[in-house]
Amino acid sequence: MSTPWDPPRVLVTAGPTHEPIDAVRVVANRSSGRMGIALAEAAARRRMHTTLLLGPTALTAPTGPLIATLRFETAADLRSLLKEHWPRHDVLFMAAAVADYRPAAPQPGAKRRRTGDRWTLELEPTPDLVAELAASGRPDQVIVGFALEPADELMDSARRKLHRKGLTAIVANPLEAMGAEQSDAALLLRDGRILKPPPGDRTKKALAEWLLDQVATWHDAPPAR
Ligand code: C5P
Repeated sequence: MSTPWDPPRVLVTAGPTHEPIDAVRVVANRSSGRMGIALAEAAARRRMHTTLLLGPTALTAPTGPLIATLRFETAADLRSLLKEHWPRHDVLFMAAAVADYRPAAPQPGAKRRRTGDRWTLELEPTPDLVAELAASGRPDQVIVGFALEPADELMDSARRKLHRKGLTAIVANPLEAMGAEQSDAALLLRDGRILKPPPGDRTKKALAEWLLDQVATWHDAPPAR
């Protein structure tokens, strides 16, 4: 890479997106934001300048001199924050659970009245934000994505996402990790390596520390993406 990170500037996304249906209803998912918050806190503890892009979550946003937290609601909000902030960072942990679909014709200024009729909602796909960033950023920027899948398809699906999205690495998380304190995760690299955290502490805090240890080993020569 052109200049070694010293220390790296870390961008973390966390939490779900809320995609408006009307003024009071949203399409959402169950992400808590816990993994991304743990990563941002761990990075700041290591004296890394950290920007946390945090979606709607009940958890408290971390504070501290080295963490700047910015809030988003929708995938579109997150897309513009990423566009603005990613160029000034070296490492991205894309832990946000971005909605894959959003209402095609939201009515944010109105509340739909209840009737006895059925209501069919048309959804449209959202852009793949991390794939967009990977296609346009500097080659020395490290991008770590996350895949949350049922255990039996986890590794194959995570590997496909790693390549299709152009990531440096992907954290494969079994579906049971969603909203939980603990996760039984693995880190997949493009050269086929599968790294596992040491046995013992399975909390997302411990996983965050271990992920930062891995990224630190890429200081001089990040793996290709
Ligand atoms: O394709 P899937 O949603 O399973 O991929 C998960 C990874 O892709 C996560 O890192 C997530 O933040 C990212 N993603 C994204 N934009 C989307 C959907 C997912 O950046 N529209």
